[in-house]
Amino acid sequence: MPIRMPAPLQRGEIADLLREHGIAPTHQRIEIAGVLFSRHEHLSADHLLASVNARYSEVSKATVYNTLRLFLEKKLIREVIVDPSRVFYDPNTAPHHHFYNMASGELTDIRDDNLQLAGLPALPEGMMADSIDVIVRIRPRELAPL
Ligand SMILES: [Zn+2]
Repeated sequence: MPIRMPAPLQRGEIADLLREHGIAPTHQRIEIAGVLFSRHEHLSADHLLASVNARYSEVSKATVYNTLRLFLEKKLIREVIVDPSRVFYDPNTAPHHHFYNMASGELTDIRDDNLQLAGLPALPEGMMADSIDVIVRIRPRELAPL
């Protein structure tokens, strides 16, 4: 079952959201956050760059990467690393897991309570589990191995 996404945020709400996370709401940051939070989708940096530049003047790739880095540091968004060449930025920071469709390249949410883990190994001495992120890689049955 997909996670129900909240309504898209308006510009003023995005500026407030940035401030709440200790991020100064510059014009470019609002534009970049706007793309992430208006769609509530998982986007790659390249996809994000194309979307921002489709509706706004030129924003450099470096600016997009630096802004994503800042958003991650401030825990405004989270990063989902399918593999080193497939990194997605997720505006949903609540605990949840993902399906990764190997045929379409699409990432979709799995609700946290729809996945149960059993048989976790004992943690090393003095350690606690901070988070567990599961990516279930899927492909159509009829396709040959990718
Ligand atoms: Zn997600």
